Amino acid sequence: MALIVQKYGGTSVGTVERINAVADKVAGFRDKGDDLVVVVSAMSGETNRLTALAEEIMEFPTPREMDVLLSTGEQVTIALLTMALEQRGCRARSFTGGQVRVLTDNTHTKARIREIDSTRIHEQLQQGNVVVVAGFQGVSEEGHITTLGRGGSDTTAVALAAALKADECQIYTDVKGVYTTDPRVVAAARLLTSITFEEMLELASLGAKVLQIRAVEFAGKYKVPLRVLSSFEEGPGTLISLEEDTDMETPAIAGIAFERDEAKLTVAGVPDVPGIAYEVIGPVSEAGIEVDVIVQNAAADGTNDITFTVKRSEGERAKTIIDAVATKLKAASVVLDKKVGKVSLVGVGMRSHAGIAAKMFKVLADESINIQLITTSEIRISIVIEEKYLELAVRALHSAFDLDDPDYEKQSS
Ligand code: ADP
Ligand code: ASP
Ligand code: MG
Repeated sequence: MALIVQKYGGTSVGTVERINAVADKVAGFRDKGDDLVVVVSAMSGETNRLTALAEEIMEFPTPREMDVLLSTGEQVTIALLTMALEQRGCRARSFTGGQVRVLTDNTHTKARIREIDSTRIHEQLQQGNVVVVAGFQGVSEEGHITTLGRGGSDTTAVALAAALKADECQIYTDVKGVYTTDPRVVAAARLLTSITFEEMLELASLGAKVLQIRAVEFAGKYKVPLRVLSSFEEGPGTLISLEEDTDMETPAIAGIAFERDEAKLTVAGVPDVPGIAYEVIGPVSEAGIEVDVIVQNAAADGTNDITFTVKRSEGERAKTIIDAVATKLKAASVVLDKKVGKVSLVGVGMRSHAGIAAKMFKVLADESINIQLITTSEIRISIVIEEKYLELAVRALHSAFDLDDPDYEKQSS
């Protein structure tokens, strides 16, 4: 008998009909004799709806109250799913994050899990219950409700699987698994049977929202066997493999991730002296704004241009901070561009394949897409471009790096 942690995302529990379908699935697994812990998200659209309500009241809602508000979404789903299971004669109990002691730090709206006391869950399993847990939420040591950041139910599931030493963690979602890129943007995207943990980590951090990055980190750290599958169709899904593929034929690129909602700030003509990058970026980070790509360029005249990107929603706030820094440093100008996006190629195969960057730049040149910023790591290359060309760039790169699904090509020809 196996212990399985399953997580069903927002679309999978988006209506009463879908909750009933999830209950059928869970009851089916239970009939086979497995022990089950089921993590659910809020019904699709609910977290956005609650966020919009809060923003009608306050421009920047208090983080603590935001957590009290947003955690209600998942609480609705645990109760409804548990009722649906009981209706099927399948014994089940629902629990909030706080009740099963998902202990977090107190960084409201983006809390990190510190530990999970799994005693209560084990007791429930021993009594023969399916344990239904609210994703995305926890409790701080002081007893405050916290949430784990958007997409956080994935992390709840993997962290529970780690704490319970589950045999597998299954993330059920609205696509068949992890694809070479978002299948909603590139119809020819190919479903991957497996992907290395390292590649998944990069894809998740670079915008592929199919798994929250913290979930992938947990899976790697605690060696949790992790699989992404469809709630709606049968199939093996994608295994997140902890072992690197040592096959000589490893393709250079495993997948392409992209982020639409970025903003770019350039402060030009600051003095080219030690400490200048800190003076510019420091205050932005201190304001809790996450800085992404940073490029610094020294000119021959002893000045520097520093360019960096942030989430678009934080662009204006970052500009206010940079305007003040620029006045102090007597910078020549500050420019905010709110219409940029980032495209990233990811693959462990890059280590053994030369010329990937050059090929990427050629593909973009052929499409007349101007590259604004470039950053690389050992297994990825990211570029920042005008947002309106984002999808064109992703499709062109997907095809040029032979990622298109051959079956899709056959179907469409
Ligand atoms: P859930 O509500 O189940 O958590 P999400 O919307 O958070 O689902 O994540 C699933 C979505 O991730 C898919 O519908 C798809 O549009 C998107 N996605 C982005 N990149 C990828 C990728 N490489 N593979 C699969 N899905 C992806
Ligand atoms: N409901 C939360 C969100 O929409 C958490 C999740 O679905 O994983 O981000
Ligand atoms: Mg999600």
